[in-house]
Amino acid sequence: MNINGLTLNSPSLPVLEKALASGKLHHACLFTGPDGSGKTAAAVETALSLLCRAPDNRPCRTCLSCRKLLHYNHPDFRVVFPFLSEKSFQDTAKELQLRETARQAEGEKVTYRDLFLKYLSESAGELVRDPLRPPRMMSDFKDKNREITISIVRDLLEEVSMPPSESPFKVFLVAEADRMNSEAANALLKTLEEPPTYAKFLLVSSRPQRLLPTLRSRCQIVKFQPLQEADLLSYLESLPRTGGLSLRLASAFSDGSVREALSLLDPENLPLLEEALDMLEWCLSPGTQEALALSEAYSSYSFPDNVKRLRFFLLFLREAEQRNRVTGTGETGDAVERRLLSLTGRLPKGYFLRAFEKARTAMDALERKMQARLVFCAFFFSLLDKEES
Ligand SMILES: [Zn+2]
Repeated sequence: MNINGLTLNSPSLPVLEKALASGKLHHACLFTGPDGSGKTAAAVETALSLLCRAPDNRPCRTCLSCRKLLHYNHPDFRVVFPFLSEKSFQDTAKELQLRETARQAEGEKVTYRDLFLKYLSESAGELVRDPLRPPRMMSDFKDKNREITISIVRDLLEEVSMPPSESPFKVFLVAEADRMNSEAANALLKTLEEPPTYAKFLLVSSRPQRLLPTLRSRCQIVKFQPLQEADLLSYLESLPRTGGLSLRLASAFSDGSVREALSLLDPENLPLLEEALDMLEWCLSPGTQEALALSEAYSSYSFPDNVKRLRFFLLFLREAEQRNRVTGTGETGDAVERRLLSLTGRLPKGYFLRAFEKARTAMDALERKMQARLVFCAFFFSLLDKEES
């Protein structure tokens, strides 16, 4: 299976493709594998194949059915995904200042309820249109307590009970299925035990061990592995160039995850990459004044951005220590790579290990909602002394 030029890495695909071609796909499939391995994209592709009207070579992506699905307005296709309750959405939206951003773009009248509904509808659309990228709601609310609740599953099951309106099948894609709470999972399980003949369920999960074993055993498993670095690189090369990190580093850093690679190449993340390099540069000759200034600056930034800063810092730190990927050959126009190259091999081993550990501690602290200023102060100050290790 090749999604927009990206070759997926899965031993189960030939079986899936054969089942699709012969019209004998199991009524429930579970797409599993690490984040960014293309599971959701493969599930969308499967939905397209099931509903496409072309006589062969399905999915054609051009027939009315394919186009409706890709615009997420096909009556026989439904996506569900875990989300926050409206109340906790509002709290998080306040924290991330989402309404302020929306008001700047759309005027003064945006309410939290408007934002909530907009997020729900846009996220499903994004997930279908561009499943290789993380939908914004997944990155904005990555570590929040998103859940597939019983009310989400009840709505879904109501649709399951109604026959398809224009296709032989009705397809239900459940993203991040492991985030179903137990009530929701049990309700879905009942339907998977005796599904209507037209219903096809496509469950997606990177943590299938968290699913009910009885639910798992009802599904045909479609397993994915991390993408091959060369496949990922050639996919990245086919995209419009966005600047930032070199494609070679992006594919090497992302451990076979297309989402990670795209995040590293996202121009919005370029300042964060630069700041991660600032942190690394600071480590070479750590000073108190700069430590305070950096902590102060980071304290005003959002939680997801601060987590990214530290994640990029960890990637760069590992690279600066190992010196195995930054070669200095080719792509010399890349500012980030040039800077990284100038920092490689210059940190004492003990200090490197300490920096690694402290960065992880800081990430944990941010995730436990400690104040960014305190977290970064503690981080920088624990790294002031280069000798002690
Ligand atoms: Zn089609």
